[in-house]
Amino acid sequence: MAWRSSGTSNSELIENLWRNEMIKHPEVKSAFLKVDRAHYAPRSPYEDCPQPIGHHATISAPHMHASAVEHLLPFIKPSRENPAPRVLDIGSGSGYLTHVLAELVGDEGKVVGVEHILPLKELGEKNMKKSKEGRELIEGGKVRFRVGDGRKGWREEEDATGRKSWDAIHVGAAAVKVHEELLEQLASPGRMFIPVDDEDDPQGWGQHIWCVDKDDKGEVKKRKLFGVRYVPLTDAPRA
Ligand code: SAH
Repeated sequence: MAWRSSGTSNSELIENLWRNEMIKHPEVKSAFLKVDRAHYAPRSPYEDCPQPIGHHATISAPHMHASAVEHLLPFIKPSRENPAPRVLDIGSGSGYLTHVLAELVGDEGKVVGVEHILPLKELGEKNMKKSKEGRELIEGGKVRFRVGDGRKGWREEEDATGRKSWDAIHVGAAAVKVHEELLEQLASPGRMFIPVDDEDDPQGWGQHIWCVDKDDKGEVKKRKLFGVRYVPLTDAPRA
């Protein structure tokens, strides 16, 4: 019932996502309520559909962002075993999801957004700085935006715990496969939410979300979730 979640305000959109069970956990709902989508979507921010943000990129539909956070939640939330979750948002685009993720990682957690187009990396930062909360998340170092090819993941300097791997990886553009470097950089245990092109589709239009889990012994299991239409992960356009 994704298309039924549109609203006329941020809170109405989130209430509709909750009512339609696209958002299921109260902590996810409260994180989404803290971030005004109007700071990130240039038009019709409270409609439950993707919107263009320039450079052939789109801000994904709210129900897709909700689904991503719901699936990644156990690896984003701080816990006794992991008080400082490390989250990577590949193809950060508008910066919206990067901000929502940062509302969930707790006092010690970190979120890094990676974009391969510099103006979009800057757009994410600019959008986040529209709110006091967003500005504080950037200035306090909880959120960082970086420029790079997300197919290679991102190696941020290690944090105070000495860890370099990512507890959760969100990929916001369709990959041709689950790239080996992303798997290597996934923590054990860790989870990745990634749209991947279907292999058995001659026209190349089909994509599915895959939920890729690495357990505490390093064993990887992949689950195919549902069909989607994302823009592709590509080479950066030449300047
Ligand atoms: N999650 C974001 C943007 C989704 S659109 C949002 O909802 O706002 C997908 C984004 O992936 C675009 O911004 C595009 O520039 C970026 N992208 C595409 N290929 C990439 C690559 N190889 N590395 C990093 N980012 C990439």
